Formats: sequence, structure tokens, C-alpha cells
Amino acid sequence: MTTAICLFTRDLRVHDNPVLQHAAQAGRVVPLFVFDEAILRGPYLRPNRTAFLLDCLRDLRSSLGELGGGLVVRTGSPATEVAALAEEVGATEVHVAADVSAHAQARENNLREALNGCALHVHDTVVTAQPPGHFAPDGKDHFAVFTPYFRRWAAKPVRRTAAVPESLRMPKVRTGRLPTREALCPGDLSPELPTGGESAGRKLVQQWFDDGIADYDSGHDDLAGDATSRLSPYLHFGCVSPVELVNRAGDSEPERAFVRQLAWRDFHHQVLAARPAASYRDYRPRGDRWRDDPESFQAWREGRTGVPLVDAGMRQLAAEGWMHNRTRMATASFLAKTLHLDWRLGAQHFLDLLVDGDIANNNMNWQWMAGTGTDTRPDRVLNPVRQAERYDPDGEYIRRYLPELRSLPAKELHDPQRIDPEDLDRLGYPAPIVDIAAANARFRASHGK
Ligand code: FAD
Repeated sequence: MTTAICLFTRDLRVHDNPVLQHAAQAGRVVPLFVFDEAILRGPYLRPNRTAFLLDCLRDLRSSLGELGGGLVVRTGSPATEVAALAEEVGATEVHVAADVSAHAQARENNLREALNGCALHVHDTVVTAQPPGHFAPDGKDHFAVFTPYFRRWAAKPVRRTAAVPESLRMPKVRTGRLPTREALCPGDLSPELPTGGESAGRKLVQQWFDDGIADYDSGHDDLAGDATSRLSPYLHFGCVSPVELVNRAGDSEPERAFVRQLAWRDFHHQVLAARPAASYRDYRPRGDRWRDDPESFQAWREGRTGVPLVDAGMRQLAAEGWMHNRTRMATASFLAKTLHLDWRLGAQHFLDLLVDGDIANNNMNWQWMAGTGTDTRPDRVLNPVRQAERYDPDGEYIRRYLPELRSLPAKELHDPQRIDPEDLDRLGYPAPIVDIAAANARFRASHGK
């Protein structure tokens, strides 16, 4: 009987998982997760995501157990660990999800080289709904503009949702313990982190389709309404399948608006797949001369810029390990364009805290906001005063995250110039660290506008 290894990476689910489905069809299967020593040592491992990941792995181990299997856990280089396990259990097939980052692409190559006489099957449409690179403009390897990408994306039906294997046959093998969070990545957690795992993710999907998505197209930018799905961490770790979400969404306006956001996710993944260095290198260099200003950067990180919308967003990030998309945009524009600090600093700080922190979505969105990425209007600057007036008209979102300003009326919360300096002192809130209009004009001028 054939034995296959199912190498889980960021597809931590049993539903709609072609990696598990195909590995299980082999006969005997060894589900495996490797704590990758390169990730353990690198700048990507952070407390919030580590806590979420461990929730995911506990949940996955339990779901695999219910199917008659289990989860084998190892630590080291994935290629070395997989090769050793394949030899130990006599596996002749290894199944893994295709993924896009430079690290993931190198992992796949290393696996291919390390596996001696064992076939490597790489499954696409596990991490993304549509495979990166399967459609591109003539003569190009990826789409650099979203609208034409989306046209092609929407015209191609996603594959059918894969069934959960009825049962798993697993050979006898030492499974290994899951490490504790403190052993893996000590440090403080954001106090309001969501619970990770496929079970929590599927519950959230159910609630979202029953009772959230109907207001999505009208409410997704309403900061106080908090009316987005909050599925991003579950999508990042693969607790929830993007294909299943697309298949489940109907044809109503809000459902179509939601699917369009999933296409944005695929879009950034196909850019990174084709240009892995864009995780740290400008995708389209614009000749920016970023300022060196550690004090302003520190104020931005701590949510103490004196611009309430920006500070509210940054405090939400610290408290929840998550931030609303609208404030991700406003805080990123503020760092890269108003303060004119290098987008890489901001992207790394987001990755330090975001539980959905994702190289494709985070770094490509940062580049988009900084004007070095795929935005077709790189000189656009979001004015946080206008953003606050429009997307937090009553100031409710700002008050939620800046309780020290709770007593102020909305128009003062929107525009810090309107707050009496004596009130700022009394409330213990800083005056703005920058003149927004002048700084934005300086940025535009530096871009020839
Ligand atoms: P919903 O509005 O419910 O959208 C559903 C799903 O669509 C999201 O879960 C996400 O997977 C996808 N999606 C939505 N908007 C975008 C977008 N602009 N780009 C790509 N995918 C999108 N998203 C991440 O998943 N990880 C990140 O690290 C990340 N960093 C970001 C950094 C910046 C500077 C900006 C502007 C955006 C970033 N985003 C990131 C995209 C977006 O802000 C989040 O995906 C979204 O806020 C997550 O909330 P939600 O699940 O409620 O989204």
C-alpha cells in the first residue's frame, strides 16, 4: 500500500484541502507540520501569530484525530524533516500546497532536491482561489493592474470544493508534542486576539454568511460599524479555504463585493509569486528619498502622533493584532506619504503585530499605499482628517480606541487643529507631530504634482 506525507504549511484545515485529500487517497497518510527553523529564527515569528498558529495546530490535530489520524510535529528544515520521515515510514509521495513568497518557493525547491525517489505533488488553489501565474497579459508573467486582472479572474470559475476524507489510515509513527507559545516565541500578546483554528474559522464563516455579509457593500468602510468579515487571519493560516468562500458566495451585490476582496488577495499573491523580491524591494522605484526621523516613527508606532484617526488605528492594532482596512490605509499613507518614512519600517511594524500578517497582502498593500507598488495613482495621499470625517462621522471609532478623547465632539476628533491646546494638555494627548496639509503638499511636490 502506498504511503504519502501530507505536509501542512498554511493550509491548516481538513475541509476543502486538496493536499490532504490527495495524500489520503494514496492509502496510508502521515499528516505532518514542521516548525521551520528558518522561520523560527527570522523576523516573521511574532507572539500574536505564534499564539494563533498553535491554536490552529491543536484544532487540526483534533480534527485529524476524529478522522482516525493525527498530526506529526517536527522542528527543523522542512526538506530534511520530510525526507527523514519519508524514509522512516516508507513514503513514496509527498503532497504540499503551492505558495508564493520567496521563502515558500525556496522550500518547494529544497523539498524537490531532498526527496530521494519520492514524488512531490504541489497543489495549487489551496492558498489562493485562483492559481498565481495561470493568467497574465500577453508577454507578461503577471498582472500589475487589478481591474483587468479581476476581469480574467472572475471569468474563470474556481474549482469545486474538495471533500473531507472519510477516514485516514496512518502508520505507526511518533507524533511529537506541540511546543508552548512561550518556548517558541516569548513576548507579550495583544490582549484581544481572536482564537485560531479551523473550528473557530468555520463558525465565523457561518455567522458571516448568516448575519454579516448582507451589509458588506454598504458597511465595509464604516469604521465604527466593524462590518467586515474578520476572516483574514483564518485565510492567512488556511483555516478557511478561499475556494470554499467563493463557491459559497451567491450573486447578490454584497456577496460580489466580498468576492472581489478575495480577488484582491489573489492579485497580491500573483504579484509576489512573480516578483518575490517585492516583499522588501520597491516594485516600481519612484526615486523616493525617505526621511530619517526615528521620533516620528516611534510616535506612529505607539499611536501618539496627535492625529486621532491614525492613533486610533495604531491602538486597535496593538490591542487586537488586527486593524480595519480603512485605517490600515490611512495609517500607511500617513507614514509613507505624510511623514515620508520608508514603507518597509511600517510594513515590519504591521508584521510584528498583525495576526493576519502576510507577506503578499501586507507588503504589497504597503507598496500600494507608498506609491511604489501597483497603484496607478502613486501620488494620491489620504488626508486623515477627510478620512475620519467620511468613515467615522460620529467619531465613535476614534473614541473606542482613544478613550482619553471620549469627551470631545466629533469635529474635534476629526481635525486635531480644532482641539484647544489646553484641552490636549488636560487630556494627556499630544499635539499633532506634523502639519498634515503642508506635509502632504511636500510629498506631492516631490512627485512632481
Ligand atoms: P474583509 O473586508 O471581510 O475581506 C475579506 C477578505 O478579503 C480578507 O480577509 C482578505 O483576505 C481579503 N482582502 C480584503 N481586502 C484586501 C486587500 N486590500 N488586499 C488583499 N486582500 C484583501 N490583509 C491581510 O490579510 N494580511 C495583511 O498583512 C494585510 N496587511 C495590510 C496592510 C496595509 C497597509 C493595507 C492597506 C491592507 C492590508 N491587508 C492585509 C488587507 C486588508 O486590510 C485586510 O485583509 C482586511 O482588513 C482584513 O479584514 P477582513 O477579513 O475583515 O476583510
